[in-house]
Amino acid sequence: MPETPYDAIVLGAGAAGLMCAAVAGQRGRRVLLVDHADAPGKKILISGGGRCNFTNLHTAPDRYLSANPHFAKSALGRYTAADFLALVERHRIAWHEKTLGQLFCDGSAKAIVAMLLDECAAGGVELALSSPVGEIGHDGAVFTIALPRRTVVAPRLVIATGGPSIPKLGATGFAYDLARRFGLKVVEPRPALVPLTLGGDEALFRSLSGVAAEVVASAGKARFREAALFTHRGLSGPAILQVSSYWRPREPIAIDFVPDAAPAWLVDTKRAHPRTTLRRALAATLPDRLAEALAERLGLGELGAASDRMLDEAGRRLAAWRFSPNGTEGFAKAEVTVGGISTADLASQTLEARRVPGLHAIGEAVDVTGWLGGYNFQWAWASGWAAAQAM
Ligand SMILES: Cc1cc2nc3c(=O)[nH]c(=O)nc-3n(C[C@H](O)[C@H](O)[C@H](O)COP(=O)(O)OP(=O)(O)OC[C@H]3O[C@@H](n4cnc5c(N)ncnc54)[C@H](O)[C@@H]3O)c2cc1C
Repeated sequence: MPETPYDAIVLGAGAAGLMCAAVAGQRGRRVLLVDHADAPGKKILISGGGRCNFTNLHTAPDRYLSANPHFAKSALGRYTAADFLALVERHRIAWHEKTLGQLFCDGSAKAIVAMLLDECAAGGVELALSSPVGEIGHDGAVFTIALPRRTVVAPRLVIATGGPSIPKLGATGFAYDLARRFGLKVVEPRPALVPLTLGGDEALFRSLSGVAAEVVASAGKARFREAALFTHRGLSGPAILQVSSYWRPREPIAIDFVPDAAPAWLVDTKRAHPRTTLRRALAATLPDRLAEALAERLGLGELGAASDRMLDEAGRRLAAWRFSPNGTEGFAKAEVTVGGISTADLASQTLEARRVPGLHAIGEAVDVTGWLGGYNFQWAWASGWAAAQAM
């Protein structure tokens, strides 16, 4: 079979692969973009509830998890949220800031995929969809990739096949297998931005399914003030998804159900309204069902009947309610993956493997994971752009 020469072959037509291919193509490189799926950018299409939270104005390296917290600095510093926003505006895609710097399309996420495909077309990128990747060879200078009907070769190969979250969308652990084949280490992948499950005594909280409240959730040193949601399996909502990335099995998480209350607020409330109940006091800021469940678990009724010491203790528990999740809802429900191809084996400027010249890894496949809120796409764009500069 004839071998077609390219300057670069990018595996994975998701967020990072589309960006990398488009930029390399526009820099005059002949690029082949390969995906086993029948359409590009499937995760982009379902992201942000169909409106794609495409970046975050507050992008900064400290909003990313990685074994090397400095690794993402170079790429994030050279291709910023403002750069991506300029691209969005050039394509006349209407957008808005929802909250906390999160930028969304006014209309459909389809506009972002269409924009990236336009950019690929402008760079003359060749797109090979429904193309499972067969054998991959490397003779030290050139990579050889077997595709269904042909074999292709290029001096550069980009791993942009993402992480294993949401397998039903075509997500796989392919990136890790390929990286290991070339001698790159992989930091153990775990589901992240994922609901946590509750069992044992805490399963009782599942009866609150559907109840949400603004809380401060924390795991270790990470703290997030956002909504938490009780579900029929445990806990979800943005605050919980955020701490899930930091949570480790068998460790507790803490929830502050009264983030705006002063330390002695229950004693003060007792002095002012001794006949009021804990449930009623809590219901001033929390949904009634949650207020009832918490008051019941604390075993307190009228505040006037409780000693100051008991109320102080109740206040402390409400400000740091410990949950011991028995697991997560796993890769089937995880928005992203923590862990991945080790940054120790990649150059931060080019995302090129230190010991395999010409091999790059970008996007979610790499051990860099952002917070909820557009940070993960910004990493995909920035790492894809950085790799393309090296081609
Ligand atoms: C439900 C959901 C909502 C999300 N919402 C947001 C959001 O609003 N904002 C945000 O910043 N992030 C969001 N994310 C995270 C974001 O989608 C990912 O971080 C991002 O898509 C990663 O980009 P990527 O290019 O590395 O991987 P992907 O976009 O996953 O692309 C990988 C590509 O590789 C292909 N592929 C996989 N295996 C193979 C193989 N063996 N051979 C060939 N091709 C292969 C896949 O088909 C896919 O097209 C969301 C994720 C989910 C699941």
